[in-house]
Amino acid sequence: MNYISLNHNSKKVNFENALINGLAPDKGLYFPEYIPKLSTKLFKNIDNISNNEIAYKVIKPFVGNCVDKNNLIKIIEDTLSFEFPLKQINNLIYSLELFHGPTLAFKDVGARFMARFLGYINEKKRNKKITVLVATSGDTGGAVASGFNNIEGIDVVILYPKNKVSKIQEKQLTTLGNNIYALEVDGDFDDCQNMAKNIFVDDQINNEIDITSANSINVGRWLPQTFYYFFAYKEIIKRGLTNKKNVFSVPSGNFGNICAGLLSKLMGLPINHFISSTNINNVIPIFLKTGQYKPKKTIKTISNAMDVGNPSNFIRIQNLYKNDFHKLKKIMSGYYFSDSQTSNEIYNVFKKHNYILDPHGAIGYLGLKKFLSSNENYFGVFLETAHPIKFLEIVEKKIKEKIPVPKQIKNILNKNGNKTPISNYNELKSFLLK
Ligand SMILES: *Cc1c(COP(=O)(O)O)cnc(C)c1O
Repeated sequence: MNYISLNHNSKKVNFENALINGLAPDKGLYFPEYIPKLSTKLFKNIDNISNNEIAYKVIKPFVGNCVDKNNLIKIIEDTLSFEFPLKQINNLIYSLELFHGPTLAFKDVGARFMARFLGYINEKKRNKKITVLVATSGDTGGAVASGFNNIEGIDVVILYPKNKVSKIQEKQLTTLGNNIYALEVDGDFDDCQNMAKNIFVDDQINNEIDITSANSINVGRWLPQTFYYFFAYKEIIKRGLTNKKNVFSVPSGNFGNICAGLLSKLMGLPINHFISSTNINNVIPIFLKTGQYKPKKTIKTISNAMDVGNPSNFIRIQNLYKNDFHKLKKIMSGYYFSDSQTSNEIYNVFKKHNYILDPHGAIGYLGLKKFLSSNENYFGVFLETAHPIKFLEIVEKKIKEKIPVPKQIKNILNKNGNKTPISNYNELKSFLLK
């Protein structure tokens, strides 16, 4: 498999180089040259196949010969060392819990896969240090930091917006130490993302250091996100939930996650419909309504990991459907919700179903509920993308109860973090070059 640049001004490269480059030299996102189709046999028998085997079959066509079978299996086993339960909320709604990894958010899957793959490349073929640069609106940074912690030959630099991530998120970024460096940017997520994008095409930087991105723009993080759609489908088959059509509601920000879902469908996974559920940063729901894509300045919300005004992966979604707006519209609906709707729903679902949503999952839930209210022949799954403890300030105030602290974060709560404040591009550049 080769990857082309969506700006169409760079050479195509294999998986390894797409992963190392992050962004193509012409600033375009990498995109697979073709969409591999999986055999329908896989889907009929999927309830008899282990998650690791499913993941192998899904990712193998994308990585091609960049890794041998045994090492790929090992990378997958290491990546998927936790559960992906599907919990029933009511007769039509299921929560796909993607927060059982080390940093309690779905980004652990992509980040762990990428970290292990890069570690493998580095060990086999290189001896120069690689720097991984990542901009985060909240959860990416923690997942990447944890995924790469103590991986040999790799330094990680994280850019996060000052005062715009939760306390626990900040702890996750700043308390690991070792090869992980946290930079607190005086700005918002879009500023962080723009700085990162410019670094990757900065000649001086590229001459002096080996640098790559670990944002969802990196194919090493984006593609493994297909896995859990397949795992969820396996549960659907296991439970015989096939007399209605299925719809997946994905709380979305940069649109990498839902883009992986759409890709899974094009590979053959029998998902009937997708919902992109957003907060008030609603460029895509508006696009789906009007056909006009109008990026906006980011607005701060309580679902901060989705505060993105110009989603990077939109162009990949457009390419998956060959820029055919009507085709895309048939597959994907879009809804957006305010902070007060979100926090009220956290309260309602807790009272009614004794289930604690985080603000992102709550938006996924709201989108699903809205879709189901006018589509009777469907049942649905929403992606619960983060553990509610990550947003305890918001959630506990609403439900008026303490959320049990999961084991993954017990030990960081009392640690003091280490961060370096920066306010402009040149400061970032000199940090990287020193
Ligand atoms: C990153 C994130 C999202 C948004 O995912 P995208 O792939 O950027 O659309 C949603 N929820 C949580 C908890 C996240 O961390």
